[in-house]
Amino acid sequence: MAGAFAATQRSFDIAREAGLLVAAVPTVSHRNLRTEGFRALVEWARREDILVNLSMASPVGNWAGNEDCLLTPDDLAFLNDLVARTPHVRRDFETNFWQLGCGAATEKLYFTPFGDVVPCPYMHISFGNVRQTPVREIREKMLANRFLRGFAPACLVAEPGEFLDRYLPKELLQDRPLPTAEEVFRAARPG
Ligand code: SF4
Repeated sequence: MAGAFAATQRSFDIAREAGLLVAAVPTVSHRNLRTEGFRALVEWARREDILVNLSMASPVGNWAGNEDCLLTPDDLAFLNDLVARTPHVRRDFETNFWQLGCGAATEKLYFTPFGDVVPCPYMHISFGNVRQTPVREIREKMLANRFLRGFAPACLVAEPGEFLDRYLPKELLQDRPLPTAEEVFRAARPG
């Protein structure tokens, strides 16, 4: 969209003038990882001394069922190399307080406008609703889940693995309640 980048840049300036720490949080997919636009973003952030905290594309939301967005093994190798040699570029699972890995549930909780609590913005699974259940209990329920206990070594929603293949809800859930953890883990896709 014409003018979008300039407007974004200006909003970074305004936030920094107000004393805020800022980070750019783009999503990288198979389609944009090796593009000139992404390279330019990384270079701009280096010049501006801004952290780039990458999310990796997942086939959920408006990308529901769009497996083409996923990073391929080659893309993941490319990204590993980029992160290793670029100090201001990190992925979501490299920006935890405690240790490397997926911080869903252990360090991160997300609340929908309806009160549902999910472990990750790409994991559209309700582990409870704050209108009925205390947050502590909801988090304990997440931590009892075998995928969310501790720090998974890879991104559960974007890298190949059992969670992505069998459990991640990949339908567009617009205008429908989130599936509950009980529904999702009872009705796993065949492995
Ligand atoms: S699954 Fe974990 S690493 Fe991946 S985006 Fe969600 S919180 Fe981050």
